[in-house]
Amino acid sequence: MAAKRYREPKERSAELLRLTLAHMGRHAAAFNPITFALWYEYAAGINPTLNAALDQRVSEGGRIDDEVVAQLHAAHIAPIGEDAMSRISTDMQRVMEGLVLTASQTGSRAGAFGEQLSGLTAALGNKDTSELAPFLSEMAAGTADMQSSVDALQQRVALGESEIRKLREDLDRACSEALLDPLTGILNRKGFDQQIAALFGTAPGKGEGHFVVMLDIDHFKKVNDTHGHLMGDRVIQGVAEIMRSTVTNPAHSVTRYGGEEFAVLMPASTRQECAQVAEAIRTRTKAMKIRNRKTQDVLLSVTISGGMAEWREGDDATALIARADAALYRSKSDGRDRLTVA
Ligand code: GH3
Ligand code: MG
Ligand code: MG
Repeated sequence: MAAKRYREPKERSAELLRLTLAHMGRHAAAFNPITFALWYEYAAGINPTLNAALDQRVSEGGRIDDEVVAQLHAAHIAPIGEDAMSRISTDMQRVMEGLVLTASQTGSRAGAFGEQLSGLTAALGNKDTSELAPFLSEMAAGTADMQSSVDALQQRVALGESEIRKLREDLDRACSEALLDPLTGILNRKGFDQQIAALFGTAPGKGEGHFVVMLDIDHFKKVNDTHGHLMGDRVIQGVAEIMRSTVTNPAHSVTRYGGEEFAVLMPASTRQECAQVAEAIRTRTKAMKIRNRKTQDVLLSVTISGGMAEWREGDDATALIARADAALYRSKSDGRDRLTVA
């Protein structure tokens, strides 16, 4: 089953839409899909590091303008292709413009309605019932007018929701087209296959090798069974984030290889550097605490096992991965939470 970055059901997504629009309205950045994605993920609470970064900016009184949005998006949300972005951008703009227009029309009618209402209140104060008649007929018309305007806004919002759902699906699709895993934003299997194929065309430098580390979360089935699938997804996202921030060499890449399995590809590197990176991922994963968002109580933590292998002349991708997998299997049978170097 393909994992999805955005899995909120319709009712919840309607609430999220309202929250997202409210955030967008309060802050400085332009109404575009990047800003939308940022505030959507913030409202949904599906991206803890993004929320922490945004909360910090806001608490420091910083403006959340286009530049800040672009930075946060690049750091915390999967980068997606330019083409997909501009396609989505046009659709998004249309949805936003429609919503803003109808909302402002409702706003100005509400203003007129409010004036009529205060006129009626004043007339009521006079206690002369004959003076009430003109206000009442005006009010009746005003109420109908106001009602149709609110209906139009509601319809607009409903339309916006379905269009935005479509946009979200487009985003998911854009991610897989771009060889990224939508849940975590790191490479997917297809992306990994491309990278590893490219690797074999180039011989490593002197004293260096091409390395791959396969990693698999320990007893992950128990996490799902005990805490539910959504919490399991949070763990997967957390581990991916650790990998992304630990693997800093731009020539190296991180992949979600399967459900709770990951791969790090480290071409033209030393054995020592690779083992250090793999160990750092292991210890940081062990130190990661998944907390209840409201109470901050620690709910769970996990460990991860790894197997590292070096490319040999004549290896294809399958042979190299099989050796790393065999090393991973050793880590599992030796008690987990460890790295085995083949
Ligand atoms: P081991 O330590 O031997 O690796 O045990 P394990 O429980 O981690 O291994 P197993 O392969 O038995 O279970 C992996 C589980 O991962 C089973 C599957 O339901 C779950 N899983 C796979 N993909 C996803 C996903 O995208 N989200 C969530 N929440 N769970 C997933
Ligand atoms: Mg597994
Ligand atoms: Mg596992």
